[in-house]
Amino acid sequence: MLKTVLENESRQVFAEEQFQQALHIYYEKLYPFKTLFKWLSYGDPLYILKREIAFTTLNDRYIRHKSFQSEEDFQQYIFKKNPAKIDIGAVCHVPPRDYAVVPVCRPIEKELVFDIDINDYNEVRTCCKETDICPKCWKFICLACKILERILIEDFGFKHLLWVFSGRRGVHCWVSDKVARQLSNEERCSILAYINLIKGNTNVQRKVHLPSKPLHSSVQRALEIITKNFIDFIIIEQDILNEDNNGLHKFLKLLWDCRQNEFKQVMSKCKTSIERWNAFVIHLNLLQKSNCLPNKLKYLKEEIMLHYTYPRLDMAVTQSLDHLLKAPFCIHAKTGKVCIPFRVSDMDKFNVIQVPTLSVVLDELNNYYQKQTLNNHFNIYKSDKNFECNHILNTSLCDSYNILLNFVMELEL
Ligand SMILES: [Zn+2]
Repeated sequence: MLKTVLENESRQVFAEEQFQQALHIYYEKLYPFKTLFKWLSYGDPLYILKREIAFTTLNDRYIRHKSFQSEEDFQQYIFKKNPAKIDIGAVCHVPPRDYAVVPVCRPIEKELVFDIDINDYNEVRTCCKETDICPKCWKFICLACKILERILIEDFGFKHLLWVFSGRRGVHCWVSDKVARQLSNEERCSILAYINLIKGNTNVQRKVHLPSKPLHSSVQRALEIITKNFIDFIIIEQDILNEDNNGLHKFLKLLWDCRQNEFKQVMSKCKTSIERWNAFVIHLNLLQKSNCLPNKLKYLKEEIMLHYTYPRLDMAVTQSLDHLLKAPFCIHAKTGKVCIPFRVSDMDKFNVIQVPTLSVVLDELNNYYQKQTLNNHFNIYKSDKNFECNHILNTSLCDSYNILLNFVMELEL
């Protein structure tokens, strides 16, 4: 039976009972409780006691207001409940587990968090739809992370960032500096207002509007990052001006306030996306040099480049202390993928399709056992009490675990 558990690819294929069993083995043998608990406590037992942890059970029940005194308590609770998902919440003014006695549980501190999901790029990507993601559109997420990381480090001076793949369609960023954890809701909103350039609902065509004064250094830096990729990625690979996907029509809508018909004429004469983009740029330069455009359209090309590629943030996740976010190393219920930490500097090599799944890592664990010349691995899973979580190092989660470990070590707790 265990062999079947290890061979199947995802939760959909797993029989429910087998998935539960696989998840239990994962928590018991691989989940990095110790490092995670150390991070969330920041060296203060009272801090972690006041930290809300929430769980989603395998039958979709949401359990909130849990908190734990020790790593062992946390671990034992998870072994017992075998949750489908673990969410991390705020540090409250009283331990959330006393919620029944003190029903007002006020959040006072939490990491500054960011959530970027690929479905927020549906209006600009051409390769996939809805919640689907592929290596092509993953590049939108890569660009967003590169831009956001530079803002957080260079403009705000934050040092302790943990980036985590959310298991399906995006990423989370946990800013864990003390000053970030102590930000009020209002301050979080101010930070968002500084970062966010994408404005307006689905009815707004061009979602970036820059003031006509000299560009802010943060916008300039974002444009430098974008420019390196824009032609290859947006114009050629995403093929945004292709007639077949209605691309030119959609692009012209972005020019609602700038001689739309004139640009239509110029660009329609060309066939490929790159020819059309070049025609747009040449014609725009011509108009700008001959002072034919109002000053508010001074950065039209830059606005369009930012419209396609600037980070699209889930604002609700960042702006409130109340928002809970999935813990690193959870298993995504739909994809079976592990929510692995990653480095933005290595992101270009990150293959979103090949992120290890629960079944893959258990398979690797099984192989490791077999290499130890132990025959009946099922019994070993059940009986090896000394098996430590650091055996995660014998799986493809090794690099991701080291990223978490280094991040926690750098916090100098
Ligand atoms: Zn795609």
